[in-house]
Amino acid sequence: MFYIQADHFAGPGLRTSPAHRFAVYLSQIVGAASVGPSGVRLETGIPCRRRPAHKPCPGFVDTVRVDVPATIEWICPVCADSGVVSNWKHGDWNLAEAMPDPGETTTILVPGPIYRALLSCLFVEVTTLQAVLSGRRTADGMVRMRASDDQLISLTGELSLQILHARSTGRRRQLAEALQLMEQVQSLG
Ligand SMILES: [Zn+2]
Repeated sequence: MFYIQADHFAGPGLRTSPAHRFAVYLSQIVGAASVGPSGVRLETGIPCRRRPAHKPCPGFVDTVRVDVPATIEWICPVCADSGVVSNWKHGDWNLAEAMPDPGETTTILVPGPIYRALLSCLFVEVTTLQAVLSGRRTADGMVRMRASDDQLISLTGELSLQILHARSTGRRRQLAEALQLMEQVQSLG
């Protein structure tokens, strides 16, 4: 069990992996917990970071956010890797502010590998991160995201840039598939 204060992983001194990777992982956990309701267990689409016996753990992270005291607990139901993040409310990864009304959002079902590709992107717009980290896994290995029109506009814009800078054709193809999916949803909306 890790006990971490969020202001300890937001600093610039963590650029090198694996500390940086862990910071990104925690940031995504905080982001995902902040955009969901408090007091309930959220089944995120964030894959577990652990690699027991050099194989990726097949689990995904569950989170529970408690508002008083403000903490976010996370656990992988498969390997039981877990932790508690406190002091996260004033950090950059609290994405709760200006979340759209659920009535203004559309559901997007994203295949697991495409969702992983989205998680590995360096998105900067809060609206994009809100949409991506709204992802909740489904029983059949998909991830269900919800996005408003504004969120879809920022997500497709940022995705287009990521595709331009993709380092491999495999990654470019995955991101292009993600973009296509988002554009389909946009044209239906
Ligand atoms: Zn695990």
